Amino acid sequence: MNKKQKQKKFLFILDNYVHVSLKGNSLMFYNPLTGKILEYTGSESVIKLVKRLQSPKNLLVIRLTEKELLNPEISQFVRDLRGYLMGDLVDTSIAKGNPIQMMPMVKVHKDAEIIKTSPSRSVGEHMMLYLAEVSIYINNTCSLDCEICGSAYKQFLCCTRAGEKRKEEQDILLLKHVFRQLKASPLSRVNILGGDICKFSKLDELSAILNGQSQSFKKVFYIHYLNLLHQEEKFVLFRGDSFSLKILVTFPVEKNQWKRVLESLQANGIDAQFLFIICSEREITEADELVSLFHLDNYSLHPFYNGRNLLFFRQNIFLDRADLQEAKPTSGEILARQLVNPLHFGTLTVLSNGDIHANVNESRLGTLKRDSIYDMVYKEMVRGKSWRRIRKRIEPCKRCTFEALCPPLSNYEYALGRNNLCHIRDMG
Ligand code: SF4
Ligand code: SF4
Repeated sequence: MNKKQKQKKFLFILDNYVHVSLKGNSLMFYNPLTGKILEYTGSESVIKLVKRLQSPKNLLVIRLTEKELLNPEISQFVRDLRGYLMGDLVDTSIAKGNPIQMMPMVKVHKDAEIIKTSPSRSVGEHMMLYLAEVSIYINNTCSLDCEICGSAYKQFLCCTRAGEKRKEEQDILLLKHVFRQLKASPLSRVNILGGDICKFSKLDELSAILNGQSQSFKKVFYIHYLNLLHQEEKFVLFRGDSFSLKILVTFPVEKNQWKRVLESLQANGIDAQFLFIICSEREITEADELVSLFHLDNYSLHPFYNGRNLLFFRQNIFLDRADLQEAKPTSGEILARQLVNPLHFGTLTVLSNGDIHANVNESRLGTLKRDSIYDMVYKEMVRGKSWRRIRKRIEPCKRCTFEALCPPLSNYEYALGRNNLCHIRDMG
């Protein structure tokens, strides 16, 4: 090309809904509209181009010359991006000026930032608006002896006798005080768990308090099916506006008792959900058999890591690339995951000894006797580890281009002692 001859120029546009992740020399593009993923490793010229696109002054639109497009890496990249509906190339002779694109930005919610930078400024009752779900262990008494008891509650919502050396039962006056404080929050759900909640001496009073709450949050009781045997007189306490009952099922199932519980629930018009706690493929089969034999239509399976079933988790829980593509996270979900952990954000748990946790796998925030719920929300927002426990902050995910696409960190990562429950990146 003659140097004096003016080079043709093109506008290269990266669509603003495309999620781009650059870690080291690895690049990943994800189109949330199609679920398609595009990856490059070690391509210096493509990395430079993407950095130019992402510069705030360019707003995802840059000019490319004909010469730049002769670079095979760049021309292939441009072709790929157009083919994956992630961007476009427009001849400047037919484009009038640069198109304006808004860059998606993750906005840290102001309250936490204001407190950190100027602690004397009040953010008032706003903090309570973050609270969405509270789980309360009302006692730790139970006459059963399930193998899962000491650790299942750290993986998913489940009863436990944890701390059973000292029999503990929540003070009903303290619970009343808690529900008064909760009036300031747009709570969507309160979970009530034990031990065996039927052994809670003030269950009728608790049921009345929940019934009297003006907010319309769901009130969910958790109990093991064997603890429902001969408890028909208590069933009425689980019935109320927005009340529901979740029944935990461990294996092996005691068929006669199971049948009796089902019959008495049916006779009393109690509509419950069954939560099967699963450690193996065999237990999945057993759960399936019970579901079909007893025509259960409201149930769910909850894998439990018992320290011996890693293979079961590898085969059934660990993510692979197909799972990620199938999940098709939206742009909103991706942005949210870069800021907070949507599984844990806004949740508090009160254990039977009164300890309050944002996550039972982390140390307590305070205690029910000494601290207010407001203070606990404040503490977790400002200094806590659970609500903001996100992949981009932890090893090895923070080095992986998929960190915003993968599901939020759950409690299984704590149980298995590794953050990458995946077959995608073997990063240790
Ligand atoms: S029913 Fe619940 S609290 Fe009782 S032993 Fe089993 S897991 Fe523990
Ligand atoms: S290493 Fe972490 S972020 Fe990467 S794919 Fe695995 S779980 Fe997801």
